[in-house]
Amino acid sequence: MQSDSTRSVSSASGLENALATANRMAALEPSATLAMAARASSMASSGVCVIDLSVGEPDFPTPTHICQAAIEAMHAGKTKYTPAAGIPELRSAVARDYSRRSGLSISAANVVISNGAKHALHNVFTSLLNPGDEVIVPAPYWVSYAEVIKLSGAQPIFVETRLEDDFKLQPEVFRRAITKASRMFLICTPSNPTGTVYSKEELGVLADIAIDANLSIVSDEIYDQLVFDGGKAVSFPTLRKNLEQRTVVVAGVSKTYSMTGWRIGWSISPEPLAKAIGNLQSQETSSPSSISQHAARAALDGPQECVAAMLHEFQNRRTFVADRLAAMPGVRVPHIGGAFYAFFDIRPMLGRTYAGNRISTSSQWCEALLEQHHVATVAGSAFGCEGHVRMSFASSKEKLSEGLSRIESFLAQSE
Ligand code: PMP
Ligand code: GLU
Repeated sequence: MQSDSTRSVSSASGLENALATANRMAALEPSATLAMAARASSMASSGVCVIDLSVGEPDFPTPTHICQAAIEAMHAGKTKYTPAAGIPELRSAVARDYSRRSGLSISAANVVISNGAKHALHNVFTSLLNPGDEVIVPAPYWVSYAEVIKLSGAQPIFVETRLEDDFKLQPEVFRRAITKASRMFLICTPSNPTGTVYSKEELGVLADIAIDANLSIVSDEIYDQLVFDGGKAVSFPTLRKNLEQRTVVVAGVSKTYSMTGWRIGWSISPEPLAKAIGNLQSQETSSPSSISQHAARAALDGPQECVAAMLHEFQNRRTFVADRLAAMPGVRVPHIGGAFYAFFDIRPMLGRTYAGNRISTSSQWCEALLEQHHVATVAGSAFGCEGHVRMSFASSKEKLSEGLSRIESFLAQSE
């Protein structure tokens, strides 16, 4: 054992710098969504009645047949390392499910199973991007894109979208953002944080621009089964012939089957890239959890009524939340076509005084809402869109109603 005196001598000789973080960590922001959820949960555990509308996590339990498959996998001894890219049965199940829904014909060799879609995205960026590459990302964007792209040494280039266009990227804005360093275009539809769902025609125009500029495309389709009003999400590679040769689709079970904690997501890509991602994963995590992979397989291969039931409930909540928000003076909401977020404009309500304090930013607004009325939301600035706020409606109708009433009272007291 080292004595205290030895430690202090070492410290004087520079020990305090021994664990100084690497340069790449300097600009790394923690996930704003997870940070807000952690704050809400710590307030709740100290006895405060918090309405947590921060994190995008379905409030339903994971369906019983999926949990049962995990229990059976454990009893059958499926508790060992799996192949790095995932168990063949799950890779095949993803390939079957995607081929059936998209109409494209893919095989298990195109699929790599990872520890959630977030990890799949990290793998894709690490495998494709070099320092100096630019990735064009429509803003508002999901919080983790910016940080994970930066970790690869590449640079996210944010391109603005507007509430007036339901936050859809306009072709001329996309074209203007392309430079010699542009390497990749990242798109998420249905979108987190805005709920935007692009039509086939709108996506086709964006696909043509990406093809002309010889960009790779990462299409985050994790909300592809959460489209309202009978609509259907369009998978990006289906838009043009051979588009799958330059596109990586990322998705997972977290949102569709209420399986956020199981940590299973995947990438679908041409085989050479899938091999590279599998190799990367073999060095970084060995494989995703064996038990979770068996559960995810049951999710994909089993009955799908649970998906329809959750979609139905999310759609009801969407209408409820959008109507209540739209009726609030000074608040504007875009059309929410899918996912489970309302991303609303509060710009007219900034620069006002709330309980004696002047509030000028979305972050101050969310902070005051949490402190004074105990409602957790996420500031638009975390998604690259100041003046807006994201609330998740992956929460019960009762909680949503109470949260919205508190937001109304908060706004009403401003002057
Ligand atoms: N992409 C988007 C747009 C998301 O909202 C999320 C939510 N966490 C993810 C990817 C990652 O999901 P997970 O890692 O839980 O599969
Ligand atoms: N995607 C969810 C959200 O945006 C989960 C949290 C996270 O992974 O950042 O709230």
